[in-house]
Amino acid sequence: MSTFWDNLLTEEDKMIRESAKRFALKEIRPFAYDWEEAGEFPRELFTKAAKAGVLGVGVDPEVGGSGGGASSIVMTIEGMMHGGSTGVCVGLGSLGIALPPIVQSADDYLIEKYARPALAGEKIAALAITEPGTGSDVAAVKTKAVLDGDHWVVNGAKLYITSGVRADFVVALVRTDEDPHGGLSFLVIERGTPGFEVSKALKKTGWWASDTAELIFENVRVPAKNLVGDKGGGFFTLMRNFQTERLALAAYGVATAELAFEEAKEWAKQREAFGRPISKFQVNRHKLADMATRIAMVKTFVYQLARRLDDGEYLVTEVSMAKNQAAELAVDVTYDAVQLFGGMGYMRESLVERLSRDARLLPIGGGTQEVMKEIIARNLGF
Ligand SMILES: Cc1cc2nc3c(=O)[nH]c(=O)nc-3n(C[C@H](O)[C@H](O)[C@H](O)COP(=O)(O)OP(=O)(O)OC[C@H]3O[C@@H](n4cnc5c(N)ncnc54)[C@H](O)[C@@H]3O)c2cc1C
Repeated sequence: MSTFWDNLLTEEDKMIRESAKRFALKEIRPFAYDWEEAGEFPRELFTKAAKAGVLGVGVDPEVGGSGGGASSIVMTIEGMMHGGSTGVCVGLGSLGIALPPIVQSADDYLIEKYARPALAGEKIAALAITEPGTGSDVAAVKTKAVLDGDHWVVNGAKLYITSGVRADFVVALVRTDEDPHGGLSFLVIERGTPGFEVSKALKKTGWWASDTAELIFENVRVPAKNLVGDKGGGFFTLMRNFQTERLALAAYGVATAELAFEEAKEWAKQREAFGRPISKFQVNRHKLADMATRIAMVKTFVYQLARRLDDGEYLVTEVSMAKNQAAELAVDVTYDAVQLFGGMGYMRESLVERLSRDARLLPIGGGTQEVMKEIIARNLGF
């Protein structure tokens, strides 16, 4: 496809994208099908990704990251998606949502003990917000932490936690006070702490290669020094970090759509029906033209927002718009791509089949489509 939007990128952006793509084509693509079917990928991929500099993108090199900001994250996602498995990308990338509270806390103990080893690919990190009783309504989180001497005693449960089955530690949002927003704090809880169990490895529609867990905490004693940042500051930290997470999800949407479009275009050119390539039927040519047009629009928007975030702008409304548009784009384009593939589009060996399942998460995860619309409407004053 035409790459006119590359005019919006710096040489460094393009290098980051190329380097992630090279890594993905060598280290993920040849194995993606098997890892998807197995429901996990080898742990050593974390260290490989760290060495290749694709694991800690967006995180300060001073704490072991690869540096860069929102644009670098978007470029890395675009490159990594050439591996053909969103599951692998989000599994590797769970530290991208788990570590920011630790890094922002500037707490040397937590950075050395947890962030640095995770960024080196030696420990797996997960972010645990969602609970069986609440997802969108973060202020309703119930998992409770009560201070007892020099430990927090944690009771509760978390649900749908990406990398939660294998995580060496989770950065969990817990209730340390009754105040709905001001009573939430982050705690780092280590795997193996008595009372902390993975109660279930969940089976999903898509993202198969990434594990997703239900976690239980029963009288789990967590050292007081594992409190991340200020007591009661959890909700506000989470809201601040949502901008980057949601833009990252928008980047996943664009990359998913683009990959599906490229597959469908090649297929439509060579697959024949009624004596000619199916791309020669106007209905299909127009379908491909619509896909390309929408991808171009959303991609340009995402690139611009990434640059503006890096320039320090506050863009909650625009990021929510981008997340929704990119999620819809991914769902629609992958649907059309499957349609163009016909029966082959329904087969597990087709990349478009996997992408169409993976895309369905995008209007749900990291803030649902409806919640994004609420944010947009509220910020626009109605
Ligand atoms: C594969 C996967 C991976 C995930 N990974 C993680 C993770 O790593 N860490 C983590 O903490 N969570 C994770 N999640 C959870 C995810 O962020 C939540 O599922 C999501 O925020 C929605 O919450 P919910 O499922 O509780 O839905 P609910 O909040 O119960 O929403 C149900 C429906 O009600 C609608 N709704 C809710 N409130 C409103 C409103 N105010 N107005 C209109 N409609 C509304 C929603 O839009 C939705 O359609 C993951 C989920 C999945 C499926």
